[in-house]
Amino acid sequence: MIPLRIKVEANADQPFVVRLRSFEADAREQRTDQLNPFDAALERVGPEGAHYVGAGGPIRILGIDPSKVDGDVLLVNPRRGTADRLIRSSSPHNTFLVTERCDQVCLMCSQPPKKHHVDLFPYFETAALLAPEGATIGISGGEPMLFKGQLLAFLGRVLDARADLSFHVLTNGQHFDPDDCEAIRRIDRGRVVWGIPLYSRDPAVHDKIVGKAGALEQLLENLALMCRLGSQVELRTVLMRPNADGLPRLARFIASTLPFIRTWAIMQMENIGFGRMNWKTLFYDSSEGFDVVGRSIDLVRGRGIDAWLYNFPLCTVPERYRHLAPATISDWKRAYRGECGGCKLKAECGGFFEWHPASHGYSNLGAIQ
Ligand code: SF4
Repeated sequence: MIPLRIKVEANADQPFVVRLRSFEADAREQRTDQLNPFDAALERVGPEGAHYVGAGGPIRILGIDPSKVDGDVLLVNPRRGTADRLIRSSSPHNTFLVTERCDQVCLMCSQPPKKHHVDLFPYFETAALLAPEGATIGISGGEPMLFKGQLLAFLGRVLDARADLSFHVLTNGQHFDPDDCEAIRRIDRGRVVWGIPLYSRDPAVHDKIVGKAGALEQLLENLALMCRLGSQVELRTVLMRPNADGLPRLARFIASTLPFIRTWAIMQMENIGFGRMNWKTLFYDSSEGFDVVGRSIDLVRGRGIDAWLYNFPLCTVPERYRHLAPATISDWKRAYRGECGGCKLKAECGGFFEWHPASHGYSNLGAIQ
């Protein structure tokens, strides 16, 4: 698995953000012109680690090849001797976890909520401004909109300063209200996609999945508000036993009532957090019961709405739907299995989450020859 946290030594008391830069020997002389005050340039590499020097002082990176972290933006915690790779410059999968608090308790939550919260927005803002050209940065939680004042201001400032960046924000959609309209209008809405879960048209099923009474009603009200604001919405439906049969009904509802959405994503489950705890009762074998998925996708796409399959191993999807199943599992948590050896689709397939159980649950899975 790609490490998101690395070991560092830095002579500082407080956390700080730094971008690591390596220069070819012949470019070293011009490097001062190219360095940002948050940059640290590679000086030398030895058995004791990689030494960088920047305006903030020296820093030593341990246990990882400098070529793998060139351009990365780190949040260094000098007291712990660690750094979080907030932006990995070579990856399209960079996400800021803004909080672990949440007001829902979803049955399959991969990141179960915690009460504790540390405000890292100032670090995230610095990091975003140092991101590579054209990056899309993910925002997730917990529920990021619990801190909507800071979040909306952060998005507005970063998007104003960097015309090339865009954001994908995962939110439960419970916390938009008319008082937020002004702040949302100030954001360039063309560069923010809101990923919002909707599990069922049946309020009893949706509310039970998210562990919150009245959640569906509130969500639909807020989706209407986002439609009026012209926000870009990606609806996300994790496929599980409790909502699988109702998927075609949900598809009809999306096609008739929510046609303004940008995308509908039907997603396979992740076996971690509450998802692992409830796996036996929730996991739906879509390789066996693809019919409800296929009908739902056809219905929505037939009305001109984009619909996709996220986190589905390609061999579990009938051939005619495989082009709708991109490799969505982030690079740092993606894994393949023994069965994948020699599979001709491996290059395009997103495989499995690293923590997917050995008894994978799919009746139909295996290398495509
Ligand atoms: S065998 Fe592995 S690589 Fe091939 S389609 Fe299935 S999951 Fe993907």
